[in-house]
Amino acid sequence: MPNPASRKKILLAEDVRAIALQLSHALEKAGYEVDVARDGEECLDKIASFQPDLLVLDLIMPKTTGLEVLRTLRAGAATENLAVIITTAKDYSTELKHIRQSSPLDVLIKPFAPQVLISKLEGFFNSAASCSLEASRPVRDTPSEVYSPALDPKRPHVRFWGTRGSIPVSGGRYAQHGGNTTCFEFCTGQDRILFDAGSGLREAALSMLKEGPRHIHLFITHTHWDHIQGFPFFTPIYVPGFEITVYGERGFGKNIESLLVGQLDRDYFPVQREDLAAKINFVFLEDRPVEISGAKISREYVHHPGATVGFKIEHDDWKVAFIPDNEFLQGYTGSPVGLTRDNDIVVPHEPVIQFVEGVDLLVHEAQYLPNEYAKKIGWGHSNLTSACALAKLAGVKKWIAVHHDPDHDDIALHAKHGLTRQILADLNYRIPFVHGYDGLVEYR
Ligand SMILES: [Zn+2]
Ligand SMILES: [Zn+2]
Repeated sequence: MPNPASRKKILLAEDVRAIALQLSHALEKAGYEVDVARDGEECLDKIASFQPDLLVLDLIMPKTTGLEVLRTLRAGAATENLAVIITTAKDYSTELKHIRQSSPLDVLIKPFAPQVLISKLEGFFNSAASCSLEASRPVRDTPSEVYSPALDPKRPHVRFWGTRGSIPVSGGRYAQHGGNTTCFEFCTGQDRILFDAGSGLREAALSMLKEGPRHIHLFITHTHWDHIQGFPFFTPIYVPGFEITVYGERGFGKNIESLLVGQLDRDYFPVQREDLAAKINFVFLEDRPVEISGAKISREYVHHPGATVGFKIEHDDWKVAFIPDNEFLQGYTGSPVGLTRDNDIVVPHEPVIQFVEGVDLLVHEAQYLPNEYAKKIGWGHSNLTSACALAKLAGVKKWIAVHHDPDHDDIALHAKHGLTRQILADLNYRIPFVHGYDGLVEYR
């Protein structure tokens, strides 16, 4: 395994010289590049000049306290996602609760051995499982809602089973966002409607098997492999009593049935078509919406190779659009600021803008960073800046980005999240924005 410390920069904000010396010596020995700030002001200056990957921040320092530093960081677009580990000699549960509101990765109570910090850093850089790191001492008085059921299936919600694009990925670098390819669920509170059959579909299957035979609806945006490869692992297709209706486009080549079931060919897979014990129906999508227990599902063609569509689900005044693959403003590498719907570059995309106009939740890709896009024009995926422009031009109320590039690990996605917030701020369009991750549930 490569040394997780390689090239990572740690800023140590610590006014007690002896502690600063001890920690910086240990961190350097572990392979990190270290800089030290002696007070809060110097800390903020060095964040700008040194650009650390992670900040170890003492709570009580001269000039500006650690807590003020943390608040300043969280309020700044460029620094709001900086990973921070707080150190403090004070172990008061009310104070620690307060600190946690500013989302540090962790809080270490002094005195601690340098090795404790080093193993926290290893844990973060190896897995970037920043949300799940435990404090060295637990905060007392855990709020009761932490233990309340995580999922209420009777409430309408969406669930992300796979949020990766192109190919599944695995390993510690992807621990936080997950590695399964596209699969999305809209649950009306009664029916569970699935969209796309990427490798995330396998997990969806496990949760459906628990509930026993039912009618499952599966909509397919297009038949690129990352959107269908989970189908042979969708266990309900082998279980009598299940009925599965698959909705897809007629396509430009082979039909949807032969593309999905064709994966059960003995040259590819050990189980055969004859083993499908469920009742499986294939339905071609039409211009009029499909209605499933009060949910109206319509589709629109999007900018992606082949007959690729996006879907919109309207249910009890909740509008959700799911468009995992769409190269919005293909070829455009300029600034998104000032683009309007009558710009020549925007006009060809008017059908998609209209389709998602004013939705409560847009689930849409932003696969490439601006510096990557120039080399990937025509690959069928959006430049981040163009995806931000779509959110604004269509006036969507919330955006969850999906179809993360397999080259973007958790740390890259953290940086990308900060950049997206910055672009949305430049567009003066500050809507709630998050990166989708495998397992994310969003209630209406
Ligand atoms: Zn895709
Ligand atoms: Zn595709």
